[in-house]
Amino acid sequence: MKKRSVWLSVVLYLWVGPVSLLCLPLALLAKWTGGGYCVHSGVLEIWGGRVGAWLDNGLPFLGAVNAFAMGHVVVGVSPEHLDSSRVHERTHVAQFERWGFFFPLVYLLAGLWVRQQGKHMYWDNPYEVEAREAAQVAISRIPPG
Ligand SMILES: [Zn+2]
Repeated sequence: MKKRSVWLSVVLYLWVGPVSLLCLPLALLAKWTGGGYCVHSGVLEIWGGRVGAWLDNGLPFLGAVNAFAMGHVVVGVSPEHLDSSRVHERTHVAQFERWGFFFPLVYLLAGLWVRQQGKHMYWDNPYEVEAREAAQVAISRIPPG
């Protein structure tokens, strides 16, 4: 990951802040119901408890998911799920930093745009395609053995 200035980081946290703040209560909910949270490489990672069960049981329109990013917060079923999806979710964090608190709307519009072309709103969403490709590149760089 590229090193960036403290000021740029502050601006990006503020730019994405409204979305991240909305998800902060999930950290306490997870902690109080048997899960946990920590800060990993500048992102608040939350896992398990009611929050993890909620992801595992399925989100509206998506079904069960391992993890998802909302601003500088990534929520996962378990620490292992967060680990295995980190590159994918960090790509979404970078997308949030690009678009700020507009990103949920931009993401939705991109999904509607591809659906208009007869493609799948989630799988063919350009922001999902970018995240999957980043994860593929990361996997291909892991040395064998
Ligand atoms: Zn994704």
